[in-house]
Amino acid sequence: MNIKKYDRPYQENFSFNSQAVFGHIHYLSKEIGPRLIGTNNCKRAGEYITNFFAQLGLDVTEQVFKTETIERIDHALEILDPPLGVIPSVPFLFTPDTSDDGLIGEILFVEEGEETFLGPEIKGKIVLWSPQARGSSPREIAKYDPMAVIIISQIPGIPPRHDIQHDNFFKPYPPVTSFRISWEQGHRLVQSEARKACLKLKTKRFPSQGRNIIAELKGSVYPDEIIVVCAHYDSPPDTPSATDNASGTAMLLELARLYAQRGSKRTLRFIAYDGEEAGFLGSAHYLKKLKQEEKTQKESKNFVTGRDKTELEKHLFCLNMDVLGMALGYNTCYVQGPPELTAAIKVMSKELGFAQQVNEGMYGSDNDPFALAGIPGVSFGKMGSDFLFIHTDGDTMDLMNKNQIQKTGGFIDQFLQRYAAGAQVWPFDRKVPEEQVKQLSDNMKKWMGDYFEVMFSGLIDKKG
Ligand SMILES: [Zn+2]
Repeated sequence: MNIKKYDRPYQENFSFNSQAVFGHIHYLSKEIGPRLIGTNNCKRAGEYITNFFAQLGLDVTEQVFKTETIERIDHALEILDPPLGVIPSVPFLFTPDTSDDGLIGEILFVEEGEETFLGPEIKGKIVLWSPQARGSSPREIAKYDPMAVIIISQIPGIPPRHDIQHDNFFKPYPPVTSFRISWEQGHRLVQSEARKACLKLKTKRFPSQGRNIIAELKGSVYPDEIIVVCAHYDSPPDTPSATDNASGTAMLLELARLYAQRGSKRTLRFIAYDGEEAGFLGSAHYLKKLKQEEKTQKESKNFVTGRDKTELEKHLFCLNMDVLGMALGYNTCYVQGPPELTAAIKVMSKELGFAQQVNEGMYGSDNDPFALAGIPGVSFGKMGSDFLFIHTDGDTMDLMNKNQIQKTGGFIDQFLQRYAAGAQVWPFDRKVPEEQVKQLSDNMKKWMGDYFEVMFSGLIDKKG
């Protein structure tokens, strides 16, 4: 048999089992399906994870927090002039409901949102927009006071994304009812010079709970050195979300299984976060709690600065996994931390023959709140062609590939084995360069506006 070159390095002593990972992805994305925070499905996914961790003999706790969730009751986008009828569309959940008659208005096509098109003429119109950047948010148009926003997908053949855009994320502007349509529908509307439309959106909001699931394996030599290994298990609304992020969750479960057997010198805290898709709710909650505890700990008489470490200070590192193991695309590792960390991952990638792009900066996942709090971390992911399906109806099990899962899982396992479980001394500074924190907060502000302050500014240590 012809042994492929890339299969060699970690096959011999390697017991990461991609078959088991596949089983978890299947259960989460197919048996359960969409897992929006606060829904019954998300709760079922949480129970599955808790039970799995518990069966491994790990200490499991559930960290519950209050939130709000939403159910889509009805929505429609009808083109009135020319009379094209109702066309397929996806609403941004949490943007405002319309009246039963809907919003009827004039369509204004603003192309890619160039300066020429952005001005007072937008006020009161239904804005049709084909933004260049994938992550563009209706917030960018909201400041011109439109009646509604319709975003056209950029790529043919990819269904429109199911996204959440909470009221808070529009601040300081008022929230605007927003929809997405496919490239095909967008093209058709522009070609037919669509002038008038009616949008209807009806949802039901209700208070609910988010739930982080935390399983701990105490370090045998350095119990006070905590390495967080995490993945979010919630999903956007109405998508099976196999890659985003049943894949990362499944890897997390498999890694927990491995290390529960092997043990580790340092404490490994396996965390399945909830609410990532609603704005890093779970990881932000986790860190805010640690921050509060730190305040109490430091105020205590018994605490000696320099000698004692707070629970937060014991956190050395966060390894996050989000969107992995698809058949097509390129592996990425986004690093927020000291330069030697980036270098170590680059060296390891070459040494083990694992092809991945190693970048410094933001990936947009649960290690971001850690970086804001000054805790270095990495996010393993996969971008490129299959990545385009995340948040859509097309994010199914069919995208997943066992060979890719094995390679990625193998690399992450080796990284943890070498440094977290095995290293004599933890080799990376507990430091995130200031310019990385600044870039991260600037990016997050662009996405969530003034709400960034409410959600995250408390995590950043103010200097001086
Ligand atoms: Zn994700």
